[in-house]
Amino acid sequence: MNCVQHKPGKRSAPRERPRPRGRKGDEHFQISQLGKILQIETWLMMTVAVSITILDVPVHDVTTEETLALIEQFVRDGVPRQICTVNPEFIMLAQKDVEFKQILDRSVLNLPDGIGVVWAAKRLGHPVRERVAGSDLVGLIADRAQQTGWRIFLLGAAEGVAAQAAIKLKECYPQASLVGAYAGSPRMEDEVEIAARIRSAGATVLLVAYGAPKQDKWIARNLERTGVSVAMGIGGSLDFIVGTQKRAPRWMQRVGLEWLYRLIREPWRWRRQLALPKFVWAVLFVKRRA
Ligand code: UDP
Repeated sequence: MNCVQHKPGKRSAPRERPRPRGRKGDEHFQISQLGKILQIETWLMMTVAVSITILDVPVHDVTTEETLALIEQFVRDGVPRQICTVNPEFIMLAQKDVEFKQILDRSVLNLPDGIGVVWAAKRLGHPVRERVAGSDLVGLIADRAQQTGWRIFLLGAAEGVAAQAAIKLKECYPQASLVGAYAGSPRMEDEVEIAARIRSAGATVLLVAYGAPKQDKWIARNLERTGVSVAMGIGGSLDFIVGTQKRAPRWMQRVGLEWLYRLIREPWRWRRQLALPKFVWAVLFVKRRA
């Protein structure tokens, strides 16, 4: 893998502070927790999280730098939050899968992953500033963890892939704290055991590679149990890191042809990728109606 590094802006990343301790029924604790939540929500609303809707699915206009800063806020805050990486397949699935739609509605941050989302936002008159791909974020999160002390847990992919990905990430980002790597399974009967494993590792950031929508549904069901502050679905990212799948070359990513590269390498995806022309049609139709 390429050891990507993000150049942060002028500000340096503050260290993760220990979570506030409080007793049940302690009014001061509850009020200060509420204050913190409000603080973050306000900060979110006022600074970065301009949310647009594409076919009724919220997508946030955030940059990569802002995403990392928000994760930092969330981890410091310690309230469990879910992040989704939205692409056209997500949006089309949300039209017919009510559970998935609710997850996207409740997610604290819906990143504009997928060039189709960037195109649609522009077409609908609310352009987003950049594409924030989940696959790029994994390395950047590990890089940022070196200063912040985030405790990262990798869950999912085929047997052994998460463990190998952890080794590769550690080679690139030696100071990052990778506290667990486990294939597990997205089956409901396994989730209590998996969540307990994540909790006992003391993870604060959980990256789940079960593919969409399984990973996002897994997170929604188990977020509280895992004890993490931030959980995000990352699709095939661990395979890209390990090399079991090859990511499209940079130039194809830049011109928006990553989907074509995946289709050529994994032709079985054709049925899933039918969502793309349907998405384009739906966006054009909405535009005409507007
Ligand atoms: N995966 C898994 N269990 C499953 C289904 C998928 O661990 O039941 C893993 C798979 O091995 C791969 C990852 O989920 O590493 C992403 O799968 P896919 O490429 O389908 O997701 P996408 O990137 O398209 O969201």
